[in-house]
Amino acid sequence: VMKIVIVGGVGGGMSAAARARRLDESAEIVVLDRGEHVSYASCGLPYHVGGEIPDADDLLVQTPERLRAALNLDVRTRHDVVGLDNAARTLTVRTDDGESTVTYDALVLSPGARAVRPPIDGLDSPRVRTLRTVADATALRTRVDDGARRAVVLGGGFIGLEAAEALARRGLDVTVVELADHVLPPLEHETAALVTDELVRLGVTVRAGVAAAAVEPGTDTDVVVLADGTRAPADLVVLSTGVRPDTEVFARAGIETDRGAIVVDDHGRTSAEGVWAVGDATVSTDAVTGVRRPVALAGPANRAGRLVADDVLRPGRARPVPSTLGTAVVRVGDLTAATTGANRESLTAAGIVFHTLHLHSGHHVGWFPGSEPVHLVVHFRADDGLLLGAQAVGRAGVDKRIDVLATALRAGMGAADLIDLDLAYSPQYGAAKDPVNLAGMAASNVLDGTLRIWHADELDEVRRDALVLDVRTRDEFAGGHVPGSLNVPHTELRDRLDEVRDAADGRPVRVLCGSGVRSHIAHRVLAQAGYDSASLSGGMLTLRAAL
Ligand code: FAD
Repeated sequence: VMKIVIVGGVGGGMSAAARARRLDESAEIVVLDRGEHVSYASCGLPYHVGGEIPDADDLLVQTPERLRAALNLDVRTRHDVVGLDNAARTLTVRTDDGESTVTYDALVLSPGARAVRPPIDGLDSPRVRTLRTVADATALRTRVDDGARRAVVLGGGFIGLEAAEALARRGLDVTVVELADHVLPPLEHETAALVTDELVRLGVTVRAGVAAAAVEPGTDTDVVVLADGTRAPADLVVLSTGVRPDTEVFARAGIETDRGAIVVDDHGRTSAEGVWAVGDATVSTDAVTGVRRPVALAGPANRAGRLVADDVLRPGRARPVPSTLGTAVVRVGDLTAATTGANRESLTAAGIVFHTLHLHSGHHVGWFPGSEPVHLVVHFRADDGLLLGAQAVGRAGVDKRIDVLATALRAGMGAADLIDLDLAYSPQYGAAKDPVNLAGMAASNVLDGTLRIWHADELDEVRRDALVLDVRTRDEFAGGHVPGSLNVPHTELRDRLDEVRDAADGRPVRVLCGSGVRSHIAHRVLAQAGYDSASLSGGMLTLRAAL
């Protein structure tokens, strides 16, 4: 009988255990977790704090008893693995009753990650909490029920914003502090700007581009002191400044790690014979840039858990664990923000030459009531058009577009291939040219030179060296425009080309409109009339968000 021991019984670990049982009825399968619960919905924790999931028991997807009954798993909670001797195939396990030894034939490690504790004084104040476990969520909720009024969330990443949203929902006065220059650092700043606006609309104070320097514990309330000297009183502080792999025990036992993350091959095998690892604790390779780093997301962890069980029990026949795209989505108020693949920063760091497009098409046709813009950013390789990454934010239809784009990325499609995706359409759901199709059309135009674009971050040089031609209506222009720009509505452009020629006076013409649609038309008029012309990607909507 093969004895499979799994360390960590939540995301990846429990997936491995369940799959192992389905493949092998005879194996002995033991799951060890130091926590009180296994198989709980960590992704649901913020919504227990916020009240949408009132009963914490609803977060417990499985219990040891049910796992025993359904899958004959031997699940042991409050079992902390404190030592590993792979030569002897034994683990040292600490429980309330002391230490004992557990033997194994195959070992799967899914220990996850723990919260990073930045070097800030005062983090040991009882008002400071992380949000990792059911106990954390319950503690935060109790604090709110007991009358906490002001909260500071340290870290404006996905989990930090979920916590901030939850606390704002409960009526607290919330401040988010983010060291990077915008919240949701994996998102482009022009995408994240819309999320910041939504946080502000929810009453959340956003302090980006500044570090928290200290937490000063007080009697009635703590005070979070920022590096710029500002002080934010806090009845509770949520520490959400990122995670790092929880792997010290295994690294000490000689399992190879890279900056703390367990190194695995494409079947999840570690450097130690008979030991596999999955999830937040492992190194994974970015599918676009090839960068190797841990990715703390539930989907990759759960799927890798299943694949590793295959490799344990069906060696040579298992599908490999794929590289990750980092696809992620978050709700903030009425907005959804999502990303897949690489962003501008990671592409630049990898030395990849790429184009970026911004689109703001409706999530369904404009003429059916309720159309909401999907603010989409798409990156693709300059030489061959390979799709590299995408982000979207909006009130509706965002998750669908990002999932379609994640599928296209996984399939290795070119951006222009998005034209050919045969997506579902009726007026309530999309458009005959879906935003994803439109992104493909625009990309194809960029790649073949039909569309030349310029970007919001080039505004200073453009204003210095070119004529900025604003082709919106007079009313839109009057409502705010780039200083020094010439307004010729796109419907009048063909008759007023002389005016443009005079104003340009030999300089290039850089066109803009509201979202990039009319400026594309104008660009085509100008280009065909022999002008050095380009159209602003995403128009004023992107320009305003980017500034
Ligand atoms: P985990 O699920 O963290 O499980 C690791 C387990 O191992 C823990 O129970 C730990 O106690 C145990 N353990 C560690 N070391 C030992 C040891 N030495 N001995 C015994 N037990 C040990 N991801 C998404 O994709 N989408 C989301 O919306 C999302 N929301 C999240 C919200 C919150 C608040 C949190 C905390 C995470 C969220 N995640 C989300 C991330 C997701 O939960 C993780 O990526 C996923 O759970 C990772 O699975 P894992 O098996 O690697 O680790």
